[in-house]
Amino acid sequence: MRLFDSHAHLTDERLFHRLTEVLERAREAGVVGCVTVAGDLQDTEAARRIAQGDHPVRLWASAGIHPHVASTATPEALAAIEGHARAQEVVAVGETGLDYHTDDSPRDAQRAAFIAHLEIAERVGKPVVVHTRECDADAAAAIRERGSRVRGVLHCFTGGAELVRAALDAGWYVSFAGIVTFPRFAGADLLRAVPDDRILVETDSPYLAPVPHRGRVNEPAYVRHVVERAAAVRGVAPETLGERAFANALAFYGVAL
Ligand SMILES: [Zn+2]
Ligand SMILES: [Zn+2]
Repeated sequence: MRLFDSHAHLTDERLFHRLTEVLERAREAGVVGCVTVAGDLQDTEAARRIAQGDHPVRLWASAGIHPHVASTATPEALAAIEGHARAQEVVAVGETGLDYHTDDSPRDAQRAAFIAHLEIAERVGKPVVVHTRECDADAAAAIRERGSRVRGVLHCFTGGAELVRAALDAGWYVSFAGIVTFPRFAGADLLRAVPDDRILVETDSPYLAPVPHRGRVNEPAYVRHVVERAAAVRGVAPETLGERAFANALAFYGVAL
């Protein structure tokens, strides 16, 4: 089965210093495409450099400022992000969104940066990658207000039914990560509720390694475990879900392989 890791952070030092080895293992596991998602302005530049290179797996980048560091999303920084977002190897804006669990940046700053990223995505005509944690009502409100003007994904989804509904109504995708393999995963009903043509899979490497690699550094090869577990929950064969998620990732990011 061909696999696509729709969200990884390959610029992270834990992966970057042995990137070729990591991507060789991914290819052996069936991964043929991956988007390395940026977390701030400097990381966006690093992600672009990676995506410009030749690798065992085809790579693309995103351009964005993570909600954890939303305070750094000054008008100048956002203008620079928009410039990066227009580059050919950049296929998405983000990750942006809201994180009320860590509250590393003030919520006002997070909401303003989120709206700004949605507007950039609309202007550059590329999809937006959205991080949501313990922020369902505010995220759903923003998506209901502006979401239908852009293609979006709720990445590493852990939220509730209201947020899924807002995303699906706006035509968005929902992406699942290694959390689906954890014994205490509580989102099985919502994982089943996402239609076949809106589901994506990801690792969010180097974070959240799935079972049986839990606690180690996550890497794109392990997306296979996410597919296997998610397929079991949805009652389909891994190959069926893997191929669907693969095709969905190409459609979402507007890329071909
Ligand atoms: Zn995230
Ligand atoms: Zn991420």
